[in-house]
Amino acid sequence: MSTVLELKNLSFVYGAGTPFEKKAVDDVSLSIEQGELIGIIGHTGSGKSTLVQMLNGLIKPAQGQVLLDGRDIWEQPKKIRDIRFRVGMVFQYPEYQLFEETVYKDIAFGAANKGLTGDELDQAVRRAADFTGLRPELLEKSPFDLSGGEKRRAAIAGVIAMDPEVLILDEPTAGLDPMGRELLLSQIINYHKEKGNTVLLVSHSMEDIARVADRVLVMNRSRLFMLDRTREVFAHGDELEKIGLRVPQVTKIMQALRAQGIDLPDSVLTVDEAFDTLSSLLKREGKIW
Ligand code: ADP
Repeated sequence: MSTVLELKNLSFVYGAGTPFEKKAVDDVSLSIEQGELIGIIGHTGSGKSTLVQMLNGLIKPAQGQVLLDGRDIWEQPKKIRDIRFRVGMVFQYPEYQLFEETVYKDIAFGAANKGLTGDELDQAVRRAADFTGLRPELLEKSPFDLSGGEKRRAAIAGVIAMDPEVLILDEPTAGLDPMGRELLLSQIINYHKEKGNTVLLVSHSMEDIARVADRVLVMNRSRLFMLDRTREVFAHGDELEKIGLRVPQVTKIMQALRAQGIDLPDSVLTVDEAFDTLSSLLKREGKIW
């Protein structure tokens, strides 16, 4: 494995030198390996959005460095725009940024700015639409004629079409209905599997994070609180609760049963896993066959 992103003593201050000065990210150091899917969690205001905005050069650190493939992204400030093609960012409610006449043009916008033309651009648009589950016939429609979920997918496709090495998604499923959430999440999983590139997913949904993340980064009060394998992080339910977070419901139930002395692992992440664990326990005890 090779390191794709390295953060060195990264800090960011809003309103520096004013009475409203706020250190939103404080001395964060960590490394992310190529191909990892990292979940980012933390209470509102803990610094998640500020942190990820520094990773694609949207805002400049007050202190510290962001290394992409070993090079400081601010090494040549004039070329910071190129970093935004390499580290693709999908903001919260990205559908508000759709503005072209057709969905096709909207998806093509970033990739065309990156320099793609002709067939190459066309393929990038169609593949990105496919990754996000947008039917080809929607491409010629106006983005304003799409449903909420489809608009969201079109906006995500616009970033995927740029073929970024790192894809950052800030609350991608927020505001979608359960079906829409499920669909989008499985598309993100597929994209990550097929492309094998690095994905950072900021989410309030512990269930989503537990399902998809290899490792989880926990922010608390502008600082890095924890970064570990997903199972390890969710085994620390008490510590997470102290900073206003929770573990997935199913993890909590299993932890409560374990506290009653039942022989169960300390971190069960999904309903399917809980089902398997409980069935094998009941079989072992001869309660079911
Ligand atoms: P999160 O994404 O975890 O909710 P943010 O990175 O948005 O956290 O915010 C971190 C801190 O920085 C919060 O205290 C927030 O109020 C403050 N903050 C965020 N954006 C701004 C801004 N544009 N101006 C001033 N303060 C901000």
